[in-house]
Amino acid sequence: MVKTRCHFGDFKLYWKCIMKKTFFLFLILLSLLGTSLIMRRLFLSVQENHLRTPPAIPANLNSPVTPQKISLTPAVPILMYHHIQAYPGGQNPSSPSIFVSPENFTAQLDWLAANDFQTVTPAYLTHPEKIDKKPLILTFDDGYRDVYDTAFPLLKKYHFQATFYLIVNNIDKPGFLTQAQILEMQQAGMNFGSHTLSHPNLTTISDQKAAEEIYASKKILEQITGTPVTDFCYPGGAISQAVENIVANSGYTTAVTTVNESNANQVDPLRLNRLFIQNDTRFPDLPALKKI
Ligand SMILES: [Zn+2]
Repeated sequence: MVKTRCHFGDFKLYWKCIMKKTFFLFLILLSLLGTSLIMRRLFLSVQENHLRTPPAIPANLNSPVTPQKISLTPAVPILMYHHIQAYPGGQNPSSPSIFVSPENFTAQLDWLAANDFQTVTPAYLTHPEKIDKKPLILTFDDGYRDVYDTAFPLLKKYHFQATFYLIVNNIDKPGFLTQAQILEMQQAGMNFGSHTLSHPNLTTISDQKAAEEIYASKKILEQITGTPVTDFCYPGGAISQAVENIVANSGYTTAVTTVNESNANQVDPLRLNRLFIQNDTRFPDLPALKKI
């Protein structure tokens, strides 16, 4: 039917013939487009599943390790954030204390910039470089979506770098960062660390389960970011010697807790304290920032 040529004899028949041909052509194009979209979706889901395939966990990740000590002179304050958004209230299960409004966050960054702070990543602690200003580490826990919407543009504006500890199983879930956002932030200089696969209390699960949470999350995050992941964050700050052994044997070189204190001059890099920044935290009042 399509092969038949349209003859310009009777205008009505000719027009009908042209319409028929156009319709068939449209159907062919539509099916080609549909097929390519399905193929693309299949390709992406295969790729995602490949990235999320847990690696084999090496044996003996829990073998004893002697904690190391590093010198933190001059002091390097490590700040801990979670959400950068006004507390939404309502049924939100999270504590209001982990929400810092974008306005207050801006004021805090403004103060840091005016007081000559320069942001570094935790790797600076184990491999210090010479920097011109006062070193400071900004960290964000859990990988919430709002850090892309609010914190990321402000960090770029102030030329600050931060470390984001991700719950790997939550990547691409509603309310959390997506792979695409992580890669965009990484390209802009942001650093990513592991906050386990599913945010359990690592001290109350078996060593084998803890090894999976700690080691597999590192390997999957390395596949996503294409770079070595050496920074870890203990969920809820829960830590034991057994957990620290697994973190060390998994290849992490730094790990942060939720102990809300400055670090001593000599410190175990796998037990770093952080200053808990809340919505009403005024940086000029923080002794750890004032004395540097
Ligand atoms: Zn957390």
